[in-house]
Amino acid sequence: MDDPSGPLDPGGHLAATASDCVHCGFCLPACPTYQLWGEEMDSPRGRIHLMSQVLNGTPVTEQVTLHLDRCLGCMACVTACPSGVRYDELIEAARGWPERAGAGAGQGREEQPGTGRPLRERAVRAAIFATFPYPKRLRALTGPLRAAQRARLDRLVLGGPAARYAPELAGSLRLAPQPGARQPRLPARIPARGQRRAVVGMLTGCVQQVFFAEVNAATARVLATEGCDVIVPPGQGCCGALSLHSGRAAEAARFAERAIAEFERAGVDAIVVNSAGCGSAMKEFGGFFARAATTSPGPGADALAEQAAAFSGRVRDFSEFLAELYDRDGGPRAERHELPVNAAYHDACHLAHAQRIRRQPRDLLRGIPRLNLTEVGDGGTCCGSAGVYNLMQPQAAAELGERKAAALRATGARLVVSANPGCSLQIAAALAAGGGEPVAVAHLAEVLDTSFRGLPLTALGVGTG
Ligand code: SF4
Ligand code: SF4
Repeated sequence: MDDPSGPLDPGGHLAATASDCVHCGFCLPACPTYQLWGEEMDSPRGRIHLMSQVLNGTPVTEQVTLHLDRCLGCMACVTACPSGVRYDELIEAARGWPERAGAGAGQGREEQPGTGRPLRERAVRAAIFATFPYPKRLRALTGPLRAAQRARLDRLVLGGPAARYAPELAGSLRLAPQPGARQPRLPARIPARGQRRAVVGMLTGCVQQVFFAEVNAATARVLATEGCDVIVPPGQGCCGALSLHSGRAAEAARFAERAIAEFERAGVDAIVVNSAGCGSAMKEFGGFFARAATTSPGPGADALAEQAAAFSGRVRDFSEFLAELYDRDGGPRAERHELPVNAAYHDACHLAHAQRIRRQPRDLLRGIPRLNLTEVGDGGTCCGSAGVYNLMQPQAAAELGERKAAALRATGARLVVSANPGCSLQIAAALAAGGGEPVAVAHLAEVLDTSFRGLPLTALGVGTG
């Protein structure tokens, strides 16, 4: 899979997908980068045009790479497109082109080395992908990051020339969460409270378990309180979402195979995911391995594709799982204690666009007494987080973050609820950078957990700033 010297589009699937675009432009207003710069080549239609050109033999130049790399992968264009163009499949494949030998070698052309991404950027990406999917390495890195925060070196870096020459470093310091209480590792099994309604596997994630262990703990408590045995397979590792969404197909396949095997062994009814980006990737595994079996058939490829399809069919977002559980098994069980607060729910792109889940998180929030839910008036535009986007494209990400923070402040909410940790980091940083009254940011699981346990709003950071 993903032979770096192989043809870009074996079987012609990508060319056929790109040709579904009828150039109507309905997707343009939905695209955050088109909103920022108004450039055709920074719109979905423009990028599809570039991809078609590459598939026809145009080299993947630095200019082509620039426009592809500026795409957030937010999938707002997929939702907006009346022709059902699978831009998600196109951009996932195209992200890997700039570093492939042979990129630009279309029909009948000679292979050329992939020269689209400058060496410095390649090195930064390599460092990110050698660290983020590996919790032990990431943990080792958080020490120096937090020491830098404590020593106020972050301000020095953010305000100084380093921000110009090493924007990714400045970005990581800007976004790195403040030290919090260290959470104990989740046990391999958390028993259901009361009569058991389901046995679920829980993804603890890579970045998630290092920076958001408290979100995982809250997720497990909520599921157990609602009558689920929660299984946390200890060998699960990274699910492969970061790699898959960044065009690193071979690496994604390795992570995915391991996750599939671990959860299969666990024998669970569903696999619950509390990170929108991971959930959307895991739901894609079926299609991903099916395409791989077609383009690079080999021993076991069909069996793996079947296994992956069964796995994807069992993956549920946290809110989606609870809504299904309530529908089929008598509704909520846990008592909801009041949380008197104006809250705004932020639609994570990989939940709203990629998984089409909008209603379930809102319903869960509306079920909490005295929580007043308000809508954000920006049409759900991406906050700029988008996996590693806010590290690789810090300026665009910061502009989108500023816009999101302004839209959130306009709601008057004192609590922003998100279902994706990356969004929470980005939004918290943008709200803090803009100054003004403190606004707390929390994961949906933490809000439910706080309500179930009858804790005060200060447990969510509301009124503590
Ligand atoms: S995925 Fe998002 S940023 Fe990329 S082209 Fe589509 S709408 Fe624009
Ligand atoms: S991607 Fe869809 S909405 Fe956008 S120009 Fe093509 S057909 Fe039209």
